[in-house]
Amino acid sequence: MYDVIIIGAGISGTTLARELSRYKLKVMVLEKEYDVATEATMANSAIIHSGHDPKPGTLKAKFNILGNRMYQKMSEELDIPYLPCGGMVVATTKEEQDNLLLLYKRGLENGLLPEEITFLSREDILVRETNISDMVMSGLDLPTTAVTFPWEAAIANLENAMDNGVELLLETEVTSISKTDSFIVNTNHGAFKSKVVVNASGVYADIVNNMFQPTEFTIRARRGEYYVLDKDVYEINSVIYPVPSTKGKGVIITPQFHGNVLIGPTSKFVDIKDISRTTPQGLEYIKNLAKRSVKNIPYHKVIRSFAGGRATSSTGDFVINDINKTGFINIGGIESPGLTAAPAIAVYVTENLVAKHVELVKNENYNPRRRKVLRISELSQDELSTLVKKDSSFGKIICRCEKITEGEVIDSINRNCGARSIVGVKNRVRAGAGRCQGGFCQTEVIRILSRELKVDKMNVNYQKEGSYILKSRTKGE
Ligand SMILES: Cc1cc2nc3c(=O)[nH]c(=O)nc-3n(C[C@H](O)[C@H](O)[C@H](O)COP(=O)(O)OP(=O)(O)OC[C@H]3O[C@@H](n4cnc5c(N)ncnc54)[C@H](O)[C@@H]3O)c2cc1C
Repeated sequence: MYDVIIIGAGISGTTLARELSRYKLKVMVLEKEYDVATEATMANSAIIHSGHDPKPGTLKAKFNILGNRMYQKMSEELDIPYLPCGGMVVATTKEEQDNLLLLYKRGLENGLLPEEITFLSREDILVRETNISDMVMSGLDLPTTAVTFPWEAAIANLENAMDNGVELLLETEVTSISKTDSFIVNTNHGAFKSKVVVNASGVYADIVNNMFQPTEFTIRARRGEYYVLDKDVYEINSVIYPVPSTKGKGVIITPQFHGNVLIGPTSKFVDIKDISRTTPQGLEYIKNLAKRSVKNIPYHKVIRSFAGGRATSSTGDFVINDINKTGFINIGGIESPGLTAAPAIAVYVTENLVAKHVELVKNENYNPRRRKVLRISELSQDELSTLVKKDSSFGKIICRCEKITEGEVIDSINRNCGARSIVGVKNRVRAGAGRCQGGFCQTEVIRILSRELKVDKMNVNYQKEGSYILKSRTKGE
């Protein structure tokens, strides 16, 4: 019997798993996919929003501000990339300038301190951003805005939770849920009993909720498409937001931790099966809107485009509740700013909802720190030489674009919640995330995965079970 079963290993489920691991609880995470963080947590803007935008009084506003204040500490403890670059909202018309004033009041009402939201003149903006468009008239400064690596944040949270005793079952899809004395959670890999069930299943949250008890909310997928620019080809120092509209935050220009720049997203309701498609219309729309905020974007330096799906709830807000106090807890409708809000939602759900059903006794062995990730790019020449003398695999570059060594790839596989596929390696250590998008390193990654996981090279997966990329042998072995 589990104390808590969490359905879904996106940022909502993984931050909750880590929070629960502070206590002596038997916790299991069930994830239908081959790896964690493959859905909304994989494809978003990666921004730790300041909290200037959500409607005051909503759960989005409350948990955005609280989550933003938790991210830096969490990133240090879990060794997750964190770029405290700040952000600014830029106005390009008189009407947008008037809306900046409303946004300013909204930010203060949501709980931003006066020094966390201030006005900028065009001259102030030009001092910071040389690529700002000629249309920009003035702006709002949001210094607490930051950028993370969303899937790495989820992976690190779950790895740390597992280090502290949480269990994970991948490729395990919840198919039905019932309750007598306790919950019975049925999956394609058998049934599990639990005192509490948490539904953190993203765009499927209404379907999973209805497996237990139909209630009033529904979820629609709202797709966002993006361009990714190669690293170090475009200078942008802070997150540049347009003035938000009823459709959302608009097309944002976002610097990334490793020097790339994201441009997007769009906003369109779509069928769940169409979430990850990019479209010529969507990408054209991004170009047309981005040029209002910034100029000289080198689109010939785009290395990829992608799309993700927001889980938009019919309630217009996050759905966080304990249905009829049964112990079936929803963390649903977690669209933006869900990445930012996740650690704060995890604390709230643990202390206010889960605590009503199981006793929270401190886990004295809880360690908030994840074992440090060895990134050779962060080492001095002396440190690197010492490491290579101890383990020569850290001297062998596998991914030339991102300068990732064999040692780093091996480490990404041999951790709790480790990589099991080519994309899994890319998401953990960036081998394949650079300019050539894996063209050179993929065969090396296959070789290492095959050896470390003890599977034939022909059976190494690209992303999901059965997604083999080698078709047949050419020269014997
Ligand atoms: C385009 C876009 C831009 C965004 N930008 C930002 C941003 O800049 N900042 C920000 O704060 N937020 C942003 N967000 C929001 C943020 O990405 C999401 O709020 C967050 O990732 C949601 O995480 P989640 O864990 O709730 O859902 P998901 O990451 O979708 O995870 C749900 C998991 O549940 C699993 N699952 C579903 N059904 C089942 C089942 N039956 N059995 C087992 N497992 C199941 C899925 O496989 C999935 O892994 C953005 C979102 C999008 C799409």
